Amino acid sequence: MREEILGKLRRILQPASVVDDENELLVYECDGLPLFKKKPDVVVFPTTADQVAQIVRVAREYGIPFLPRGAGTGLSGGAFAAEGGILIELQRMNRILAIDVENRFAVVQPGVVNLHISQAAAPYGLYYAPDPSSQMSCSIGGNVAENSGGPHCLKYGMTTNHILAIEAVTAEGEIIRLGNAAGEMIGMDLIGAIVGSEGTFVIVTEITVRLLRKPQAVKTMLAAFHSVEECSQTVSDVIAGGIVPSALEFVDAKTIEAVEASVYRAGYPRDAVAALLVEVDGFREGLDETALTIVEICRRNNAYEVRIAKDDDERARLWLGRKGAFGAMGRLAPDMITMDAVIPRTRLPEVLLAIDRMSSRYGLAVANVFHAGDGNLHPLILFDSRYPDQVDKIFGMSEEIMKLCVAVGGSLSGEHGIGYEKKDFMDLVFSEPDLDTMMRVKRVFNPDGLLNPAKIFPARRGCTEIGKHTTTSTAEIGKRVEEILLGAKQKVTR
Ligand SMILES: Cc1cc2nc3c(=O)[nH]c(=O)nc-3n(C[C@H](O)[C@H](O)[C@H](O)COP(=O)(O)OP(=O)(O)OC[C@H]3O[C@@H](n4cnc5c(N)ncnc54)[C@H](O)[C@@H]3O)c2cc1C
Repeated sequence: MREEILGKLRRILQPASVVDDENELLVYECDGLPLFKKKPDVVVFPTTADQVAQIVRVAREYGIPFLPRGAGTGLSGGAFAAEGGILIELQRMNRILAIDVENRFAVVQPGVVNLHISQAAAPYGLYYAPDPSSQMSCSIGGNVAENSGGPHCLKYGMTTNHILAIEAVTAEGEIIRLGNAAGEMIGMDLIGAIVGSEGTFVIVTEITVRLLRKPQAVKTMLAAFHSVEECSQTVSDVIAGGIVPSALEFVDAKTIEAVEASVYRAGYPRDAVAALLVEVDGFREGLDETALTIVEICRRNNAYEVRIAKDDDERARLWLGRKGAFGAMGRLAPDMITMDAVIPRTRLPEVLLAIDRMSSRYGLAVANVFHAGDGNLHPLILFDSRYPDQVDKIFGMSEEIMKLCVAVGGSLSGEHGIGYEKKDFMDLVFSEPDLDTMMRVKRVFNPDGLLNPAKIFPARRGCTEIGKHTTTSTAEIGKRVEEILLGAKQKVTR
């Protein structure tokens, strides 16, 4: 049977585009979250929507799972083959098909790297706004699936706000087209349902994205603080002051340590406990005043250094540190997981303090770097996977962090999706009827569940073993979270 399936795939594609060598498959055993691994049975590299549709039909004929994959930078385990099967790698569908300058849109294939769209549009004074920190490598197809965010999404909105039309292959192997370049949604907003469905509804094969005109002027600032509380308070005060910066990014001392020791050195003050990277853009007129208001808010919250980038070079250097922060962590530990949650901005100080205490208790270093303006939170837990006890602790600690975020009124994901990583936390925020409704919608798109199985929904709903990696009981963790929060609150209000 295996040979029969491989034979059919090789007839659809060039034989070299069907990979089943055990060693080569290792590349695809996980995405950017190295905690969950499983090799697919075969990886295929289509170049057209029609080929994708034919592959899907083969998978269905034999009842085997299949899933799409872009650049594999996802951080929630969305692009690994949890149940084996056919992994459909879309990176060879990487052509920018059209740029319509007058109507400000681009038509691209799903494997196009996010940054390449802005680079191609730059000569026309246009760009694609959502800019994940992984934008040098992540694909636009992956962005659509995860509804990705980025530093500048605070002002410009997430991926969903920039997708005008898509072509996709359904889980039954049909090619569909939704939306139009004019951005007018006629009939049901199915694009809205597909963006963020984490590769479980359809396989996107062409995307029409909105392009924006580059802003007339940009101001980028760095403010350094001696305390996390003052830094977080500044975030709340800037937003409460009615200013919508284009970016408002938080970096802590550990991140600064890693960045400043790396090739991404940005000149961040090494003695800062926390720092903010703030950017405002728009019409030249009035922008200096807005920047000065932000400087004043920073100073009011005891920022001991506030710097406004003098030119494009200094601006680029400040961003280099932020965008390279994840890569720089390799200097501190061989492995890292990037957690993703969202919390009300005002709860930032106590949550960061609580995470700091957890870090001491578990003996695992944590760095924090995140889109603070959106209330995103990305604790980076550093560890060494050669020590199994550290891996075990990661599961306990990440569960505690998730429960903590939910306890303060937050939610499970700001931008990286639920994937495989957080599926068993879904009932922390959703009731049975909520989950049943979502499951029913998924079944409409993906009736036999063969498209990217074992993702998003809790394992008890027939996906995989529940709580396999949980090292601490839920009741015990709930109790701990309450204690930590109480302790942190007392310290913050003191
Ligand atoms: C250093 C670093 C920084 C990051 N910073 C950010 C950030 O600032 N903001 C942010 O939101 N994310 C960030 N991420 C996470 C990640 O880059 C995004 O989720 C990105 O959108 C994933 O794109 P990808 O091409 O790598 O997708 P993959 O990892 O290959 O896949 C992700 C999911 O999308 C599905 N998928 C892929 N292609 C398609 C398609 N054509 N059709 C349907 N489904 C598809 C897959 O099945 C999977 O479920 C970061 C990751 C790293 C490693």
